[in-house]
Order: sequence, then C-alpha cells, then structure tokens
Amino acid sequence: MSEVRVRIAPSPSGNLHIGTARTALFNYLFAKKNNGKFILRIEDTDALRTEQEYVDNIFDSLKALGLNWDEGPDVGGDYGPYTQSQRFDIYPKYIQQLLDKGFAYECFCTPEELEAEKEEATAQKRAYVYSKKCENLTEEEKEKLRAEGRKPAIRFNVAKAQKAFHDSSILEFDDLVKGKLHVDTNLIGDFVIMKSNGAPTYNYAVVIDDALMKISHVIRGEDHISNTYKQILIFEALGFEVPRFGHLGMILAPDRSKLSKRHGATAVSDFVKEGYLTDALINFVALLGWSPSDGEEIKTVDEIAKDFRINEVSSSNSIFEYDKLKWMNSHYIKMLPMDELKEKLKPYLAKYPLDELTDAQFTKMVEITREPLTLLSDITDAVPYFFGKDVTIEPDAWDKALASDECQNVLKDFIEKAQGWDWTEENLHEKLADFRAYWKETTGMKPKVTMWAIRAAITGRTCGADMVGILDILGKETSLYRAQKAVKQTVA
Ligand code: GLU
Repeated sequence: MSEVRVRIAPSPSGNLHIGTARTALFNYLFAKKNNGKFILRIEDTDALRTEQEYVDNIFDSLKALGLNWDEGPDVGGDYGPYTQSQRFDIYPKYIQQLLDKGFAYECFCTPEELEAEKEEATAQKRAYVYSKKCENLTEEEKEKLRAEGRKPAIRFNVAKAQKAFHDSSILEFDDLVKGKLHVDTNLIGDFVIMKSNGAPTYNYAVVIDDALMKISHVIRGEDHISNTYKQILIFEALGFEVPRFGHLGMILAPDRSKLSKRHGATAVSDFVKEGYLTDALINFVALLGWSPSDGEEIKTVDEIAKDFRINEVSSSNSIFEYDKLKWMNSHYIKMLPMDELKEKLKPYLAKYPLDELTDAQFTKMVEITREPLTLLSDITDAVPYFFGKDVTIEPDAWDKALASDECQNVLKDFIEKAQGWDWTEENLHEKLADFRAYWKETTGMKPKVTMWAIRAAITGRTCGADMVGILDILGKETSLYRAQKAVKQTVA
C-alpha cells in the first residue's frame, strides 16, 4: 500500500474517553508524519448502546483537541459511508464469499446449547472454544433445523483459514509498537461473524471497513491484540491486503488500576468542564507512551508530529498522573494570550455580574488573578470580591487581620489617609508603600501585617490578588465603603 491511511473508530456508547483521544492523537500524528490521511469512522453496530448525543460528543471533543479528520461521517470521502450502521448492505456480500470459500459456516446452536458447552469446559477446567458442532452439518440437517424455526449465525472457521495461509497453527505478526507477537490459533474458537439477526459482529465489520476504506495501519489499544489475530485471518480469507498493526500500552490510574471515574474525569468533555485547556490535554496525552527526543515536554501537536515515530512509542502501560496534567494546564493558562484567556474564563464567571466591570477592569482583574490558576474553574473562587458593593469577611480573616485593636487602628488610619489619595494605580502603589513604612516606623508593625488589615477589610480574605490592582478596579468609593464597614462598631 502506498498511501498511509489510518483511522479512529470509536463506538458511541459514551462520551469520548481520554484514552480514545490518545489513540486518535497517535493515529493523527502518524498520518501527519507520513503525509497520510486520518479517518473517522463511527462504529455503532451495537444499536442498543449507541446514542446520538455520544456521536456529537465524539465529534466535538476531537475537534476541540484539534484532531481534524480528512474523511468521516460529516465530511464524507471516497470510501463512505463512515458510519457502520449505514453500511449494513455491504456486509452480507463478504459473508457469502466466506461461506462459498468454506471459511465460514452456519451455526444453529441455541444460547442454551452454547451455555452448556461453556459450563462443561469450566467443569473440566479447560479454556472454552466452540465445539464446531455445526461445522459439517449436511444440507438435510440444516433444513431440519430451519424447519424448527432456528435462524443460523455465521461462524468463521479459524483452523481452515489458518491452514490455507500458514504452515502451522501459529499465527504471527510484526507489531509496529510491540515487535513480533504470536498466538496458537488452536486456542481461538470459531467465532461468530454475523449474528442470527443478520447484524455483523465487531471483528467482522471492522475488517470489511478497514479493507474497503484502504486502511494501511491500524493503531489502537493493546486490549485489541486478541482481536487482531481474528481480524488478520478474515483479511487473508477474503484476499484483502493485511494492514500493519500497532498496539499501544494501556493508560492506568496512579494506583495502577484501570482509569475510571472514581479517579477523576475520564471523558474529554469532563476535563474541559473542569477547566482544563484542550491544548494542555493533547500535550499531556501525547506523553503517555511517547517521549520527546529533546526532553522538552511542552509541545504543540505540530511540533510533536515532526518528532513522532511510532516504533519509538513505549510498549508498556502509562500512568495517568492527574497532578502532572494540572501542572501542565497551569503552564498553558500562563501562556494563553489575554483575549483568549478572558473568553475561556467567562463560563466560570457566569455567576458574577461581569457587566459591572469595564473591559479594561476585566482585563486587569484577569491579569492580577491568573498566576495561581491551575484550572480555568479556579477563577470562580478567586474573584468574588471584585463584584458588588459589600464583601463577606471570612471569619478567619476577621480574627487574624481585623479583630485586634492594632489592626483596627491600621484600618482607621487607612480610611482617613486614603480619602485624600489620588486613585490611580501609580499613586496607590506609592501611597500604600508609604503607609506600610509609616506603620513600621511608628509601631514596628510588619508591612505584611499592615496590608492584611486592608486586604481583609476590602476583600474579606488575607490573601489574593495584588492589592493595588484590587483597589484600582474597585474604585475609591467602594474600597473606602468596605473599609469603613470593617471598623468595629462600638456599642454605646
Ligand atoms: N470500536 C472499537 C472500539 O471503540 C474500535 C477498535 C478498533 O480500533 O478496531 O474499541
């Protein structure tokens, strides 16, 4: 095959998983690196678990991550349709070919009969493979079973296909990531390729689609290795060229169990909701199995594509370190241009009357609060004091920075002096410095403590954004109003 054509083939039984995003990325990188095509196929043969909402989520998440496809359900292409449920008329033709060549046969076994076979195998402590009971049914026997109302499923004849194309029962392939892998095909039972209701099974449909879509390389999770052997046999039995396969290690949680919701978000859209940037997410998942040759981990997808080699991808499992992702996210937040950051923060500021601020004030607020943000959503709790006239003073802040006579004196002095201040950023900077120096000189009070009193009165907290910036945004009137309200009312 000359052209590199890879695909991501998610099943829409849930929102796009972060692991699928990594598989999509590695396929995308491989296509980019080799001037190939990246294809999206929706594998919705399992109609019961499929929902349009999930299909939409897959589209939106891949697009948000910048993993745009060259061919797919929405953009079309020469080998469509790209949604399996719209390809049902394609599958029977190749079933017939397999039946004609003797690589498949009708199986009339009922679920009860199959269950009994499995139980017997368990009782004898041996791995279950289908008994091949239906392999050599005569036409007469089949007619009889049909007359009973039984509808056959179609099974693939593993041993026959193996014998036709290989010297022994060992089937081997050269994995792009893991090197040579093999299996003894005697351990693979004759598996169903079409159910009795006419629906193709995954292992069969995926081969027909990959073959007809001229997929050259199949890159996916190592949980599919056992499927790959079955698929290779079907490719060969139908005379299709077998693509190259590459299997990626799994992504595990920090406790080395399967990554699941109890560890944190797992769907791309949930990470986004929590305040992760898609640029950080994509950079982070690239590092799950791939390492940059220059050791520099922060990279755009384009930079990664230049450096990416599928045979250098690690064959072992990767640990999903949420803390590292957070670190990376905070880095990306710091790098974001102001206008973009403001737009991205808006959803997390929905509970505040943002229109109270001018655009310049909004910019200033973001400028002085962005530094400690790990998640975009951290902004919500960082900014309540920029809105409204009143502020709620946290009990701790009151006790620590406002309750004592000393602090009250600082506050009163501040109110008195600040009334005469020219309320510009530059001037406030200077005046506050003078104010701190005055208290240090006259009482020995640490500048930090002096500022706590002012900060606590005006923001209700003892830490937060740059004080000059806060005063500037709030304006003189609100600042002094809040300071005044924090003065203890003496009861007569
Ligand atoms: N629909 C399959 C899945 O989501 C695709 C596997 C494959 O890439 O062949 O696991």
